[in-house]
Amino acid sequence: MSSNPGPALDIYRTVAAVRAFRSELRKANQTLGFVPTMGALHSGHISLVEQAAAENDAVVVSIYVNPTQFGVHEDLDSYPQTWDADLARLETLNARLRGTGARGLVKAVFAPATRVMYPVLPPTSEINGTGSFVTISPLGQVLEGASRPVFFRGVATVCMKLFNIVAPDTVYFGQKDVQQTVVIRRMVQDFHLDIQVRIGKTLREVNGLAMSSRNVYLGDRRFRVGAVLYRALQAAEAQIRGGKMNRPDILQAANDVVRSERATQEALQPDQRALFDVDYISIADPDTMEELDEVVESKGAVISGAIKMMPVENPSLDEDCGLGGGIVPVRLIDNIIVGPAAP
Ligand code: AMP
Repeated sequence: MSSNPGPALDIYRTVAAVRAFRSELRKANQTLGFVPTMGALHSGHISLVEQAAAENDAVVVSIYVNPTQFGVHEDLDSYPQTWDADLARLETLNARLRGTGARGLVKAVFAPATRVMYPVLPPTSEINGTGSFVTISPLGQVLEGASRPVFFRGVATVCMKLFNIVAPDTVYFGQKDVQQTVVIRRMVQDFHLDIQVRIGKTLREVNGLAMSSRNVYLGDRRFRVGAVLYRALQAAEAQIRGGKMNRPDILQAANDVVRSERATQEALQPDQRALFDVDYISIADPDTMEELDEVVESKGAVISGAIKMMPVENPSLDEDCGLGGGIVPVRLIDNIIVGPAAP
């Protein structure tokens, strides 16, 4: 493998700079893959970038923490920002890609300021706030959208802006945020965007917990217990794979796992346990994300869930409580797609 670090990545801050880069690529007949992120890159992000590099001549990664997808009381101010480490990860990936002879490389990072992304009115997180928004309903209002009412309006809006600026051939999103992938596909379809949407599989920690930028807030205890969500979804999946297609059977399997873990935690002393609340467990239609009473084999289902890990209680002095000392609750989401049976 080559140890040649190669040329540094181009960092673009303006729309004009990205457009100039894009127009050069077009002249050279090169395809462009695009991976939108909010930074704090982990292996899940990198796997999407790798997929983009395998399928395109050039890749752009955006790093932008978009304020309009955070609710007024959400964690915008504390969202992890790790700019230098992010760039280092992308440079390391490029060195690896050069060594393995991949088709494309990460050519540029687009990291705009908010006044670039929202040039006219300041961004708002208010439900009735004014501005130019893309709303995808009712898809964006169920599940994550029910818990976070402005979330998908913010996501669809910033992705529309980014797609218009970067003008990629193909965009890459993670299955980890499954409802987001359905919203983006719908936006691309409904607005006739000339873009392919590709979905990468969810990368997980060894205990099954889905990787997420927010996991740095968990600390040891909550990291261990947080894996309950994936186990619950797997139990639901096993029901469907075993031929149990009705909602109560599927949900019960997931709820049993969650209840048992909660009982285990409640029986522990406060300085040992990690308590959590379940926000939802859902069995939904893969196209509409509407709840299903019965899973139809030819259509499949998305089993998804969200739990909130409560603050760490009575931590000992040497305990790893995560960034922020364990005082912030951490919301975890995850999903499993049970694909349609082959016709
Ligand atoms: P974010 O920075 O959280 O907005 O995520 C940027 C992209 O990375 C989104 O398309 C996410 O779905 C994707 N992503 C996040 N976590 C994972 C993961 N564990 N595995 C694969 N992709 C992920």
